[in-house]
Formats: sequence, C-alpha cells, structure tokens
Amino acid sequence: SSFAHFGFDEALMKSVRKSEYTQPTPIQAQAVPAALAGRDIIGIAKTGSGKTAAFVWPMLVHVADQRELSPGEGPVGLILAPTRELSQQIYAEAKRFGKVYGLRVVCCYGGGSKWEQSKALEEGAEIVVATPGRMIDMVKMKATNLQRVTFLVLDEADRMFDMGFEPQVRSICNHVRPDRQTLLFSATFKKKVEKLARDVLTDPIRIVQ
Ligand code: AMP
Repeated sequence: SSFAHFGFDEALMKSVRKSEYTQPTPIQAQAVPAALAGRDIIGIAKTGSGKTAAFVWPMLVHVADQRELSPGEGPVGLILAPTRELSQQIYAEAKRFGKVYGLRVVCCYGGGSKWEQSKALEEGAEIVVATPGRMIDMVKMKATNLQRVTFLVLDEADRMFDMGFEPQVRSICNHVRPDRQTLLFSATFKKKVEKLARDVLTDPIRIVQ
C-alpha cells in the first residue's frame, strides 16, 4: 500500500511526503480509507502502530471540508485521550499535518492552566485534543461548546476507563450530535469497552492490528 491510494488532496499529500513516513502502517492502510468513507471504526491497536496518524489524517480531511460548508464556533473534530502526554503527542501530530489547511488545534489536559486553555479555546479551534475531565470543565466554563463536533475520536479507550474516565467519556459522547462519525481505539477490547462501542458507534468496521 502507498499513501497515494488514500486520495488526499495535493496539500495534505505534500505534507505527508515531507514527513519521515515512507509508507502507511497496517492500521493506517486499513483505517484511513474506511474513515474517509465516513465509517465508524473500532481499532484494536497499540501505541507504536501508527494509530495516531490513522485518525488524524481523516479528521483533517473531514474538518477542512466541513469548515467550508458550515462556518461557526466550536470545534468540528474532537479527540479524547487518557493522559497529558498522549494528548500532547496527538496535538503535535494534528498540528504538524493540519498546518497545510491552516487549522487551529488546541490541547486541554488536567494539570495544565485552566485559564490558558480556556483562552485558547475562546480564540477559536477547529480541532480539540483533550483529556475527558478537562474537556468537561471547559464546557462547563463555557470556553467552548460541542454542538459542531461531527468527528469524534476516543483514543486508548481502555486506559481512559482504567483511569476512571468512563462517566466523563459517556457524558461527552451524549453531548455530541448523534449523526457524528466516531472512531474508537483501544489496545484491549474488554467487556466495558465493548459495551461503550455498542453504545456510541454506528455499524462500525472492526480493525485488528
Ligand atoms: P503511534 O502509534 O501513533 O503512537 O505512532 C508511533 C510512531 O510511529 C510515531 O513515532 C509516529 O511518528 C510513527 N509513525 C506513524 N506513522 C508512520 C508511518 N506511516 N511510517 C513510519 N512511522 C510512522
């Protein structure tokens, strides 16, 4: 497989070619076309598989398209991740590849300054990467709202549950419009995650790394 098969526009292709990546990883080869086709996905994949780009690229394409269709406030793409470290890694990947579209990406995590994060959100972001508890705080503070989110990613769902974020993850899913596209990634697929997948995904494609 090669990146050319994804059908990215010239701008995104250029930035992928400029990266050190030479060919898609197996999870990317499977998840990217399905996500671009609008499908919900369950991805069973660990860190190191290239899963981040597998959801970041389709999100960028979706958000860039959507931005032209419906201008407004609040993010179109939302990624939830369990930890500060992971959310910052995702943020870096989204920023790096989102630059070609001029997309604004904001990262919000527990332990960081609420004031700074809310300021950044108020200035506007098409994509938000957040830990679940902090995302809820930001919505409660009215720093942003989730009404425009149509592309939702739950990354490392098993770890989010291990850390006790299940209520926050579910609450956020319930606040995002039901006609969204949802991608769920998890290293393991235990009962609780399986139940979440049943509750928040629509006719998902299952990809096992
Ligand atoms: P991830 O599983 O998303 O945490 O990615 C693991 C590492 O693989 C990161 O350092 C990425 O930069 C790198 N990576 C992601 N996609 C590719 C690719 N197609 N080719 C080579 N490296 C990649």
